[in-house]
Amino acid sequence: MRLILMGPPGAGKGTQATRVADHFGIPAISTGDIFRANVSQGTPLGLEAKTYMDAGDYVPDEVTNKMVRNRIDEPDAEPGFLLDGYPRTPAQVEELDGMIRFTGHKLDAAVVLTVDADELVARLLQRAETEGRADDTEDVIRRRQEVYAEQTHPLIELYRSRGICVEVDGMGTVDEVTKRIFEALDIVDES
Ligand code: AMP
Repeated sequence: MRLILMGPPGAGKGTQATRVADHFGIPAISTGDIFRANVSQGTPLGLEAKTYMDAGDYVPDEVTNKMVRNRIDEPDAEPGFLLDGYPRTPAQVEELDGMIRFTGHKLDAAVVLTVDADELVARLLQRAETEGRADDTEDVIRRRQEVYAEQTHPLIELYRSRGICVEVDGMGTVDEVTKRIFEALDIVDES
């Protein structure tokens, strides 16, 4: 199973990614988590990424693509993977297509979580209190939503045109959303 999970910041991608990946026995690969781990360890990659992350901007494609390529080459991703927060730009889509083609596999589905704009902000402000992420301040939250709308939202149409886009209502409890994702993926499996 090769999946991507898309949706605006605050849509609940991270929480759902782990659940879906566990179900399929594949790793959930979150580019945001990998960047944050590098920032906290002070690696050269972390130092490079930090300025962009703190501003709510995307880390340059060359840096992000190389990181994902290395991660996907790990043995645990051989049976499949779920990408959380990648691809987010046309250049990343192209790179991912190349990586998957190279292994002779295909992308099974692009799951898109949809959540009301007001609910997104409420969730991120709530997360700011519990997790204390550096990029969960009001200004940076706004910037991240803008960047998503400009650069990533248009990619949904692209996956829709490929017939692999699975849109799931991300409102409600974590369990409700997980159930909807599983139901939607079963439909994809049967098609
Ligand atoms: P996330 O945890 O997915 O919200 O990502 C946090 C931050 O990491 C983003 O605001 C970006 O600065 C950076 N980031 C994560 N994934 C990507 C990506 N695919 N392309 C570029 N930057 C990314």
